[in-house]
Order: sequence, then C-alpha cells, then structure tokens
Amino acid sequence: MDEKCGVVGVSLDDRAAAQPIYYALYALQHRGQESAGIVTHDGFQQHSHVEMGLVGDAFSEDDIAELNGPNGIGHVRYPTAGSVDSSCAQPFSVSFKSGSLGLSHNGNLVNASALRDELAGLGHAFTSDGDTEVIAHDLARNLLDDDLVAAVERTMGKIHGSYSLAVMHDDRVLGLRDPQGNRPLCLGELEDGYVLASESAAIDALDGELIRDVKPGELVVLEPDGAGYESHRLVEPDHTARCFFEHVYFARPDSTIDGELVYEARRELGRQLWAESGIDTDVVMPVPDSGRAFASGYAEAANEGDGSVEFAEGLMKNRYVGRTFIMPTQDERERAVRLKLNPIKSTVEGKTVTLIDDSIVRGTTSTQLVELLRDTGAAEVHLRIGSPAIVAPCYMGIDMASREELLAADRSTEEVRETIGADSLAYISHEAIADALDTPREDLCMGCVTGEYPYDIAGEATDREVSRPTIDGNRASAGD
Ligand code: AMP
Repeated sequence: MDEKCGVVGVSLDDRAAAQPIYYALYALQHRGQESAGIVTHDGFQQHSHVEMGLVGDAFSEDDIAELNGPNGIGHVRYPTAGSVDSSCAQPFSVSFKSGSLGLSHNGNLVNASALRDELAGLGHAFTSDGDTEVIAHDLARNLLDDDLVAAVERTMGKIHGSYSLAVMHDDRVLGLRDPQGNRPLCLGELEDGYVLASESAAIDALDGELIRDVKPGELVVLEPDGAGYESHRLVEPDHTARCFFEHVYFARPDSTIDGELVYEARRELGRQLWAESGIDTDVVMPVPDSGRAFASGYAEAANEGDGSVEFAEGLMKNRYVGRTFIMPTQDERERAVRLKLNPIKSTVEGKTVTLIDDSIVRGTTSTQLVELLRDTGAAEVHLRIGSPAIVAPCYMGIDMASREELLAADRSTEEVRETIGADSLAYISHEAIADALDTPREDLCMGCVTGEYPYDIAGEATDREVSRPTIDGNRASAGD
C-alpha cells in the first residue's frame, strides 16, 4: 500500500478545528489528490467526513459546519496508479471499549501483514487492506491496558517502516514520527492553539508560527484546550533515514523540513549540478514547476564564472492539468504531458538548450519534452536532472513505479540518454544530495537511487544494520 500523504492535527482553545484543518489540507494538496478527510471531537463524540477527490470538492460549507469540536485531524491521500479505493481513504476512525480513535498516516509499513495476522488471530476484524488500520487496532488494543504514552510506545515497538501520524484518542490529538524520521512532520503554534502538519507551509497557511520539526521517534501530545503540548522522545535513534526525495520533488519549495527550506536545498542542488556536469548552451530552462528551483541555482552558478547563460521559461504549463504521473496507462500519460506543457517558441527556436527537471522516473516526461523542443526548432537539447538515477522502487510511501517501469533500473546513463533522445544527459551525484541537504549520508534514505534500504524489506538489500520488531514471539515472515 503506497501512502504518500499529508496529515494535520489541530487543538484549539474554543473554536471549531474543522475550518483550520480544511485550510491546512488545502496547503498540503500536493501530497495527495485522491481523497480528503477530517475527523473532529467535540468532547463527547467524534465527527467524521471523508470523501474521494480534491479538498475543494470533498467538503461543502455544511460539511465543515457539522464537524464540531476544537480538536481534530485531517488527511489528504495520494493516489496509486489505477486504484481508487474509498476503503483506504483517511482519517481512519474507530470506536472501541476505551474510547474513540482517529488516525491519519503518511508513510508505509513494511511489516503490516505480520501484525495484521497477529491481530486477526486475536479476533480483530479489518475493513480495509491498509496498514493504517493495523496501527489503529494495535493501538486500540494497547489502550485497554496502558495509558496513552505507554500504549503508543508499545505500538511503536511493533511497527517497522515509515510513518508520520496524526492521531486522535477521544479529544486528544497526538503527532508521532517514526524513529528514522523518514517522512516529515512539524509542530506549530496558532494564536489559540497548536497544530501538527506534514509540512510547514500548512502552518503558514493558518498564520501560525513553526515551532520545530517533530523529532524522529518523538510523540507530541497536544492539550485538548489548545493550551500547550507535551513531548515524549520514545526512541532516540543513532541514525535517521530521512527521505531525500521529499526535498528533491515531493515537498513544497516553501516548506521548511528538518530545519532546511526546501527551495534552498533545490537551488543548492542546481548549483552542484552545474559544478558536476554544467554545459554551455544558449539557454537554461526548467520543466515547470518541478525543475524551477534547480534551474535557477544551475543558471546562477553558470553565470558566476565567465559564462553568460540565459535563464528563461521555454515551456508553459497548463495549471489545470493534474500531475501526469497519476494517469493509469502510458498512452494517457503521454497525452497528458502534451496537454500540460507547451513550448514558448522564442526561447527555443534555433537555440542550444539545457532542460532541467528534478527526476526521471518512467522517462515519459523527458522523452516527450525533448521531442517537443526539437520539433520547436531547438538546435541541441541537453538534460540535467536534480536527483540521481532512480533505479529501485520506494517501499516507504512514494509511488515510484516498479523496477520494470523505471527507465534507469537496468539502463546505463548513456542508454537512458539514447532512449530519451537528448544530446547529453547527467544526473546529480549521490554525494551532492547529502551535501546539499547538509545531512550525513547515513542519516538519509536513498533506497530508490541505490537499491539498498534502511529498512528490512523482504527480497531487498539494506544499507545498514537494521532489525525488524519481533511479532507474536516470531520474527516477521520473510514473505511479508
Ligand atoms: P516520468 O515522466 O515517469 O519520468 O516522471 C518524471 C516526472 O514526474 C518528473 O517531472 C517529476 O517531477 C515527476 N515525478 C517524480 N516522481 C514522482 C512521483 N512519485 N509522483 C508523481 N510525480 C513524480
């Protein structure tokens, strides 16, 4: 189950939480367009509204008005190609003996099925095949015997993988980030309360103040009256495994993640791309919007020497076309790229061009764009990419396609260049990623570009010593 999503949690003094959660979800729309949901608690009971579609379509004014209570959580869910499954829409909510529970999850567990089997054996019935429900049931079970913090700690000891969670137990909102800090989660202050969100841009949208990132292995518990929060560092890891791809592609450039503004990380990557593989051309242009920050850093670095490169927009984007990636068939994907991007003739015709994008996944975008620029009269088209070659799938929640679909999985850079039809192609190096993110390599997850993961995943290599939690007295089965 790929769950590349956005989560929010809000606790306020004496104002309904639904409206600010709705705005925060709007700010996180880029993290998931398949479904949107809000669950609130009014001190007596939970209220829930979860709907397929974009945030703006999922809620009416009346829906928001009916979500009573000053505490709540929200979720936007990322689509997986071809699957539109409302049983996986979130927040997941459930009532049980010791109260009500709501969960919003960003990330992906790699041992969910072992835990699901254990819980099913204990009589738990599941309504979806998602791993979020597994976390919810385990937590519900632990809450029968333990207080909140101890129950979360016990669940944390069992789940292996990537998770940033906004949880609501009755009217108490919690934020939990996995010990590897794989996905982002941050904490902010509002005039009348506190907010947890996947990205700081959501806190900005509420006119809040970013306090800090939730630390890897930390549980933050908001007070239900918005008066404060408690922090519990449940696990202190030696190393983290932060997803570098959040900085390269997924997160908003105006978000600060783990202390670094994403826009500046991308610009720095662009600068390093020039240093590593710069090529003199008449014009440098981004693939909008994902290549923009890289291209501006690249062009800036190019012009620092004696170069004089023109930095210009050569492709115009139709903002009403969604992310092409989510189109289920190759045919639709190709059509969508053409609908989405149209060349600006004056920037391209007769020129040598460097085209900059953040990544090549299946290669659909790059192949089409190189052809388009040539048809528009470009003399040469050179491709520079702000991430290393993506050679392996993501198990941590980014929908990155399988090895068969990844263009670079079994091709050299020269073979990829040839397939795409560019005059030259260069990716950024692995080292530059750690440099630009100002993070030691061993604190990053780079599984999709190395094929080695910081988690124990059946059939895959690891890049460090990792161990799965023991479930039901046995090590989780290799087939999980
Ligand atoms: P592709 O056309 O398959 O090579 O995809 C590459 C394009 O998709 C790039 O322009 C990226 O900005 C964008 N992209 C990269 N990773 C993802 C992802 N996980 N989901 C959606 N879009 C992505």
